[in-house]
Amino acid sequence: MTKTLLVTGGAGYIGSHVVVELVRAGYCPVIVDNFCNSSPRAIQRVEHLVGQAIPVVRADVRDSTAMLRVFKDAQDSGQPISGVIHLAGLKAVGESVTKPLTYYENNVYGTVKLLDAMDQAGVASIVFSSSATIYGAPEHLPYTEGHRVSPVNPYGHSKAICEQVLKDWSICGGGRRAVALRYFNPIGADHSGLIGEDPRGVPNNLFPYITQVAVGRRQYLTLHGNDYKTPDGTGVRDYIHVTDLAVGHVRAVEFTQNQQGFTAVNLGTGQGTSVLQLVEAFEKATGQQILCKIGPRRQGDIAGAWADVSLARELLGWKAQRTITEMCADGWRWQSMNPEGYGQEV
Ligand code: NAD
Ligand code: UDP
Repeated sequence: MTKTLLVTGGAGYIGSHVVVELVRAGYCPVIVDNFCNSSPRAIQRVEHLVGQAIPVVRADVRDSTAMLRVFKDAQDSGQPISGVIHLAGLKAVGESVTKPLTYYENNVYGTVKLLDAMDQAGVASIVFSSSATIYGAPEHLPYTEGHRVSPVNPYGHSKAICEQVLKDWSICGGGRRAVALRYFNPIGADHSGLIGEDPRGVPNNLFPYITQVAVGRRQYLTLHGNDYKTPDGTGVRDYIHVTDLAVGHVRAVEFTQNQQGFTAVNLGTGQGTSVLQLVEAFEKATGQQILCKIGPRRQGDIAGAWADVSLARELLGWKAQRTITEMCADGWRWQSMNPEGYGQEV
């Protein structure tokens, strides 16, 4: 029987790619999303891409009644949910500083309520969207999973608290198991150009800012500092193709089938790329010129961050495959085919 998986936040940037890779791997995803930061149009695009309808419920993960109904409906239809991939959450670091309670309520309380609904429905397996941001300032690089957890903003704290909740929940027994995937910097888009990142307002992150400059929505890219102790003075990050990241979720689901308790795994490439190197790679891959201006450092930024990816290889049998050039080319295909993202259309 095909395994049915609940994907919370499945309409979002990463969730939509996860849903595509789940279908490609033979799973049946069911999406729950409240569309607070996404468009139902993303799901229509996913359906077009995979050539099949995807069940979707507009609901908030904090709404116990709605979540229990999702589990019960799946059970009643003969396709019980065997596990959950929990991507639903808020992710803007800056906003989390001005609205910390909103972040704790959505990300932490949302996870607690979801686990409670899973317990009531007898679902024991969860893969969780965590973040490399939980490490904070690096004591050593690359970051291993054993690195100190020391977030520097409410968003990071909310993810670290969720990991602790998952750890405590999973050691209660009853076959409960949780994998926290600590994402590094997902960029790019599905190779088709049909789905991709569609941030609301001014992008906080580097890559969507670059693509919006390229498509003419922004005039220039501000380099947030060029005096870091890095080879060219700009910040270094571990960019990972969102499709590789999505495949990592499929592997994590497979891993949970033979595992007990809690496991945290980095998902990155293990390679650092500076801001200027990414701009240069983008220009080369796409033929677009990106006007850059040097600005001050961004508050709270660190010079460099990249992953030790050996645990992912060992436990999940997963390794990122796609190059920076492919990340740039695929991300530009999405942005150039959809200059305004998913737009207002639903
Ligand atoms: P996104 O905003 O595109 O997707 C999140 C989705 O969750 C959206 O569709 C949103 O509408 C939905 N959602 C939010 N709160 C909800 C709730 N209470 N109930 C139901 N749906 C809700 O973000 P993304 O980039 O796809 O990120 C997905 C997850 O990965 C998030 O948890 C994020 O914190 C985490 N993450 C993202 C990155 C990144 O760089 N994009 C890095 C590390 C971790
Ligand atoms: N950055 C930049 N200009 C921008 C956005 C980001 O120079 O408009 C830099 C930022 O200072 C960091 C890198 O790009 O060195 C990646 O930033 P992003 O916000 O994408 O990821 P994070 O810092 O959260 O890992």
